[in-house]
Amino acid sequence: ETIQEERVKWLTDTKGIKAVTVLFSDLEGRLHMLDYDKKFLLKSYDNLTFDGSSIRGFTAQRESDLRLALDWAAFYYAPADVFGSGKVLVFGEVIDKNGSHYVGDLRGVLKAFCKEQYEKNGYTLNAANEIEGFLFEGLDAERNFPLTGKFEYTNQGGYYHSLPGDPLREFIDLSAEVQRAMGFENEKDHPEVAPSQFEINYTYGDAVAAADQIQLYKLICRQVANQMGMTASFLPKPVVGVNGSGMHTNVSITNKAGKNLFWDPKGEEKISKMAWTFVDKILTHGNDICLLLNASVNAYRRLDPHFEAPNQIKASATDRGSMVRIPIGNEKSARVEVRSVGPDANPYAVLYTVFKTGLTGNVAKIKNLRQAERYLPDNIYTAIEDFKSAEWTTELLGEDVKARYAELKQASADRCPRLLGTVVKASEVQFH
Ligand code: GLU
Ligand code: MG
Ligand code: MG
Repeated sequence: ETIQEERVKWLTDTKGIKAVTVLFSDLEGRLHMLDYDKKFLLKSYDNLTFDGSSIRGFTAQRESDLRLALDWAAFYYAPADVFGSGKVLVFGEVIDKNGSHYVGDLRGVLKAFCKEQYEKNGYTLNAANEIEGFLFEGLDAERNFPLTGKFEYTNQGGYYHSLPGDPLREFIDLSAEVQRAMGFENEKDHPEVAPSQFEINYTYGDAVAAADQIQLYKLICRQVANQMGMTASFLPKPVVGVNGSGMHTNVSITNKAGKNLFWDPKGEEKISKMAWTFVDKILTHGNDICLLLNASVNAYRRLDPHFEAPNQIKASATDRGSMVRIPIGNEKSARVEVRSVGPDANPYAVLYTVFKTGLTGNVAKIKNLRQAERYLPDNIYTAIEDFKSAEWTTELLGEDVKARYAELKQASADRCPRLLGTVVKASEVQFH
């Protein structure tokens, strides 16, 4: 029995399920949801079409019809108190009219890369993301922000704040509970350093599942916050003068026997030569790929070394201002942490970029990996220039998708008047 057969049967037999929500993401990582009635879906899952021209970064109007295939392995139960009753969530794959994976659907691109690495080298690509965010007072605080000019904290606490009576703690507990119900293996959660800031950690997964879980994590947090009459924000730097939010991306690679290939007890910082080569390639292409990892105007406000955020193109075991950190690990947990990633980046783009660059990028432009010779850009204009002029990004995305991505980012940069000073301006806010 294939996973498809198994899940179709489960859907058919499970009386309580009425609808199936199909999830996919546009080029910039906005999550889209299409709800299908269960009976209709069971009849027609082989032939689901949608209009791609209305999705940002997807097809031009003349080639607008795209198809959706369901990734039956990426199937999640949706708790009724958060999503409404009788639903399950399934991630979709975007298929073009020739029946191939559509190039603008980076989930499909990531999935194909993972498959190729498994078939060629026996590698499984693992990722764990530490997604930080803020909880703000008021429904739709991000949209009200342009009017009020400021966000209101829900909590003044900091790292160890606790119940009773703390809305942030309550929000974290509720969100973690939903995650557990959906099959995330939670590990730990806590209010982060800044007031009203949170982080909920769960275990690693293969790259596609990990990216799907990033999308679900943000969806859950937003939904739970909304039910509390508040707003969960994944802007990298919503408030000037306090820590921003990162999406530290921890990666490792296992072989078919399940051995962690990044672990070497005799290696420098106890990671293997292979892991160091991976780090070298990421740093070599640090500027090229910055726009994929830090994808909004606001993300560049965060890359300020004064707030534990990383802008130095170097690797370190301890210095949190480094693009790459090597956390203390063991046989199972040895990994490389890419810190300069914003939580509003497209997670499929992030994991694809990190793995493809780390595995197949160019090596050894950096003489001393421990010492910063270059810095990440402090504004999106420079990041766009670096992205456009790099041959590596063409290799990653192909001419066409690269151009479309650059165009979208240029448009978001142009919406932000440069002269407005250092306060984060309403026009920079991106709603995803
Ligand atoms: N919030 C910091 C950042 O922007 C990271 C703090 C931490 O190390 O967890 O990346
Ligand atoms: Mg953190
Ligand atoms: Mg971290």
